Amino acid sequence: MPNADGYFGEYGGSFIPPQLQEIMDEISAAYDSCRQDPEFKAELARLYKHFVGRPSPIFHAQNLSEKYGAPLYLKREDLNHTGAHKINHCLGEALLAKKLGKKKLIAETGAGQHGVALATAAALVGLKCDIYMGEVDIAKEHPNVVRMRILGANVIPATHGRKTLKEAVDAAFEAYLADPHTQLYAIGSVVGPHPFPAMVRDFQSIIGNEARVQFQEMTGQLPNNLVAYVGGGSNAMGLFSVFLGDEEVQIHGVEPSGRDLHTQGEHAATLTLGEPGVMHGFKSYMLKDGEGEPQEVYSVASGLDYPSVGPQHAYLKDTGRVNYGHINDKEAIDAFFELSRLEGIIPAIESAHAVAYALKLAKEGEKGSILLNLSGRGDKDIDFVVEHYGQDFGIESLL
Ligand SMILES: *Cc1c(COP(=O)(O)O)cnc(C)c1O
Repeated sequence: MPNADGYFGEYGGSFIPPQLQEIMDEISAAYDSCRQDPEFKAELARLYKHFVGRPSPIFHAQNLSEKYGAPLYLKREDLNHTGAHKINHCLGEALLAKKLGKKKLIAETGAGQHGVALATAAALVGLKCDIYMGEVDIAKEHPNVVRMRILGANVIPATHGRKTLKEAVDAAFEAYLADPHTQLYAIGSVVGPHPFPAMVRDFQSIIGNEARVQFQEMTGQLPNNLVAYVGGGSNAMGLFSVFLGDEEVQIHGVEPSGRDLHTQGEHAATLTLGEPGVMHGFKSYMLKDGEGEPQEVYSVASGLDYPSVGPQHAYLKDTGRVNYGHINDKEAIDAFFELSRLEGIIPAIESAHAVAYALKLAKEGEKGSILLNLSGRGDKDIDFVVEHYGQDFGIESLL
């Protein structure tokens, strides 16, 4: 999967203007040759080991296991350089761009996480980097903007409309169309036209490949359950893709149900409530409003408010191989503090959704072991969490 046209069942494909299709075909061909090229693979492996710090360990969370009644293990993507899994595909995309003779990486970013990871990869590999970001997000996500600029990237404000992620996508897309030959648009998840959903998944499958070996070394078995957060779906596909053939392994993807699953604009549960459609160049589940346009979406994990999802997830939902559940803001924040206070690990709010789901699963009993992908660390979220939820957890305002 996917087939030669980039389809996972009926999902995926490529719905873009002809001049961009030519470029996507070029990227596809280059990726096909890179993935079989021992030199490319060796260079990526070298960077994963010595730059990112891979393999990331698996940690047996014994305190949580004891309290919730099931063996719980964490794949520690939060320990990667730059603090999350995104660096895995950004390095792959940067090496590919270099191979194609491109001079510049471009991308949009919401909360700035993809921008920082890409700016990091660009600095290392020796490419220019333009990051498009809504003016509102630039003001909100100041530390990440500073990081990108220190790393040498240009942060270009999107100043139209609501001045957030969607406008940043428009601006980046326009810039790409103006000059698709010297730039590579480095998509930040398993979304977009073929070959990006497959390519980003393959770069992220380092997570599952490591975890499979590590878990068996630790326990002598495969995990009974996998759990991962699904925004666009890249960290989840990176883990899941390696276990799809192991029928005894139950696989769970977790979406954000936000403030209210039953009010439009108050959640981002695309697979739970969406319907098939085409957006941003590919077919998948999407959340549409009354007019068939992409819905406003919301989650406490800001920057991930994306009204669609990777096409392979859509396929895995329809086939029933993966079970997609959801976790709301409150449950995620509770899990954020639970992991911090019982295991000494502050998770990203995104990852906290997966933690919350895993704890629910453990409490149900008789589900066996659970391996959850801790996609990132929570440094970026601490100010927000303390400001909005600190009092509930005994942290008074420090001001
Ligand atoms: C970006 C991000 C995600 C969501 O992206 P996916 O493509 O769904 O993996 C999840 N966790 C963290 C920490 C992130 O930074």
